[in-house]
Amino acid sequence: MSNIKLPLEVQKELKKISRIASYLWQREWAERNAGNISMNLTSFFKKADILEITKDKPSMAFDFPKGTRGYVLFITGTGCYLRSLIDSIEESACILCVNEEETGYTIIWGGKKEGFGPTCELISHASIHHFNTENNPTHLAIVHTHPPELIVMSHHPLFNNEDELNRQIWMMCPEIRVFVPKGIHCTPYALSSTAALAKVTIEAFKTRNISLWEKHGATATGEDVEKAWDYLDVANKGAKLLQMCWASGFQPSGLSNEQLTELEQFT
Ligand SMILES: [Zn+2]
Repeated sequence: MSNIKLPLEVQKELKKISRIASYLWQREWAERNAGNISMNLTSFFKKADILEITKDKPSMAFDFPKGTRGYVLFITGTGCYLRSLIDSIEESACILCVNEEETGYTIIWGGKKEGFGPTCELISHASIHHFNTENNPTHLAIVHTHPPELIVMSHHPLFNNEDELNRQIWMMCPEIRVFVPKGIHCTPYALSSTAALAKVTIEAFKTRNISLWEKHGATATGEDVEKAWDYLDVANKGAKLLQMCWASGFQPSGLSNEQLTELEQFT
């Protein structure tokens, strides 16, 4: 697979992705092949250039959601280790273009690993990007990862009471209320890499900043990969503090409802 020269802005985003991948690995949020990252790069490319680049390249069949024609997406590979994005991003991730019929894609950069294919969560990522194009157009990046304390929350009875789960996480310290203003969605279990999972995840982003996949992991979107990571990092801090209190044998008093309301001016 020959590589094209990427626009400078795209190169900057790729560096950011490598850096965030190192955070995910260090935090034990990305064991083995867990997690995937994507970014909608369509706006960084000229349409004519993409048509020229893809002209003689092989196309792979994939049933994309309606409205994604012409998308240019950075996306990690199936079975690839997220930690390998730190120093060999061209092997374990690619940039692909969705064809005009939305029936397939062409890889224009990366994917150098033998037998490479985009993550099996491609359908979820493509669906979320399309949702964001229409509803949240500044959010170009998606991070899915396995933050332990958030996953623990998805096994707790509080998972069945989304408002109360959010209140208890927000009450742990002011920054959580401010930087995860719409909170966490308790997204019911769905099998990985299915259209069903994509559907429940879209539902989550209609109201919340984070989709907490029951007994699996968490997903967030942001302007770039760092901003998406921030939502998960801050929310996981709240879950961790809460669980530290429980592990110490007490229910935290937490910020009062009045104090939480007072913080809304900063959201
Ligand atoms: Zn996962």
